[in-house]
Amino acid sequence: MSAVSTVLEHPHHDHRRCADAALSHAEEIARRDGLRFTEQRRSVLEALLASHVPASAYDVIDRLAKDGHRPAPVSVYRALDFLVEHRFAHRIESRNAYVACDRGEECDGAATLFLLCDKCGAAGEASSTDLHALIGAVTGRVGFSPSTPVVEIRGLCAACRTAA
Ligand SMILES: [Zn+2]
Ligand SMILES: [Zn+2]
Repeated sequence: MSAVSTVLEHPHHDHRRCADAALSHAEEIARRDGLRFTEQRRSVLEALLASHVPASAYDVIDRLAKDGHRPAPVSVYRALDFLVEHRFAHRIESRNAYVACDRGEECDGAATLFLLCDKCGAAGEASSTDLHALIGAVTGRVGFSPSTPVVEIRGLCAACRTAA
């Protein structure tokens, strides 16, 4: 069983709707779980939702800059930590960047594959219970407990392959 992200399955989707859905999902979960979804955290998530291309903390700061005012890096990093902790966003280690989660309810903490397109830069996620079981078996054999079962795979997305 697996669940795939919007960007991978529908590269030409209506991104405005996709971003709105991600934002209302985060609001709903925050309300349900009594999380403090502050203005700052919300605006950092909105900045990430501008694109499916992972953004560095400094990209986020640039996107939030207004009238010569830039948010303090430490507050942006804290907001990113919060978003990652609650799976509203994910950290892409190989790019030292962050991407908003586009799977909503289906992002359940099982092992995740991140498919990173070398051409358009988009990152799509797909979880797999098979992968989860495999990682569990391999790490368990050596008594290792995985905290971030994430596999990052580089390549070309379907849209870029068709365009090539
Ligand atoms: Zn989208
Ligand atoms: Zn996710």
